[in-house]
Amino acid sequence: MWYTSTPDFSDVFNLKRGVKLRVLITGGAGFLGSHLCDRFLKEGYEVVALDNFITGSIDNIAHLAGNPKFKFIRHDVSNYIFVDGPIDAVLHFASPASPPGYLKYPIQTLKVGALGTHNALGVAKAKGARFLLASTSEIYGDPLVHPQTEDYNGNVDPIGPRGVYDEAKRFAEALTMAYHNEHGVKTRIVRIFNTYGPRMSLDDGRVVPNFIAQALHGEPLTVYGEGTQTRSFCFYSDLIEGLYRLLNSDYHMPVNIGNPYTEMTMLELAELVNRISGSKGGIVIKKEMRIAGDPQVRQPDITRAREVLGWEPKIKFEEGLQETFAFFQKKVHANS
Ligand code: NAD
Ligand code: UDP
Repeated sequence: MWYTSTPDFSDVFNLKRGVKLRVLITGGAGFLGSHLCDRFLKEGYEVVALDNFITGSIDNIAHLAGNPKFKFIRHDVSNYIFVDGPIDAVLHFASPASPPGYLKYPIQTLKVGALGTHNALGVAKAKGARFLLASTSEIYGDPLVHPQTEDYNGNVDPIGPRGVYDEAKRFAEALTMAYHNEHGVKTRIVRIFNTYGPRMSLDDGRVVPNFIAQALHGEPLTVYGEGTQTRSFCFYSDLIEGLYRLLNSDYHMPVNIGNPYTEMTMLELAELVNRISGSKGGIVIKKEMRIAGDPQVRQPDITRAREVLGWEPKIKFEEGLQETFAFFQKKVHANS
């Protein structure tokens, strides 16, 4: 599918100060945060990135060293954020994002979703900046509605293992909406569905990097549970385009961004990765590795993104997987 009619984004936002703008990106050394840094720099913006490297890596932003429009500050955003000078938009992306990541750091995950979001909103309010929250399809939990629309309130176990992430993001959405209603901050909320691509870490633990790393080592791909659970996978470049449009839009209600055309079971995904990589390692079923609350199905309803942003994903899954595979292949060679 290709983009539908695109609204005009040569916008009030760009012209606000009559000069190019300065954005603050929390989690800027992560997978998505670093791609956001690149996108805003490419558009001519100045970028300030904050990260404490809990799951991110300096490698993701090493290419930006020496760029006079880029500034990096190593900082845990669950503590008070101080940034000098004007800021026109805050994009809050800091948070462990993979299930193994948030299972390893449950309290840091809750803190960054709650305190980190509060601090990031505080910066937006103080600077008169727009605010974009990276929320997630996880706020729908193990959904009883399929595909998931933004008006579905979800099925989350607050004290289950995934609750630390799900509830942190649900709280973050509530706080963001409160800043919109109470303080008039121009807020945006994106609910991101499974996104993959270059710069994910090899040991991230999410299914795409796990399977690719295993295939590259000729090992069996570890399918958790029965492998009948589904996910829908969006390539990072499609997501970044959606985020850019959302920030530039005038829409403050949550918007799903993801690729509904790629829904498949984890067994199907494993077969696809083995085929694309040519790995002969096969597949191993690891029933015990599937944690409580792992959603059985997941597919975004993107009607709202289509209507409000004129956005559609355009990268075919096999194309995105090949590009991701090539990235990981280089990384594995460099490490060996
Ligand atoms: P990632 O782990 O690569 O990036 C997250 C970054 O945040 C890392 O660089 C990490 O070091 C940093 N971070 C975490 N806690 C921090 C703190 N307290 N202070 C400063 N930095 C901190 O993961 P990602 O996939 O790039 O995810 C980015 C954001 O998007 C997250 O908020 C995540 O919840 C959200 N999201 C991602 C997906 C996806 O499929 N990639 C899906 C839904 C939501
Ligand atoms: N999964 C898997 N094998 C792996 C890693 C994950 O079968 O090596 C499964 C996991 O149980 C889940 C799905 O893949 O059902 C997607 O997991 P991921 O960690 O990518 O993120 P989630 O969408 O669950 O947040």
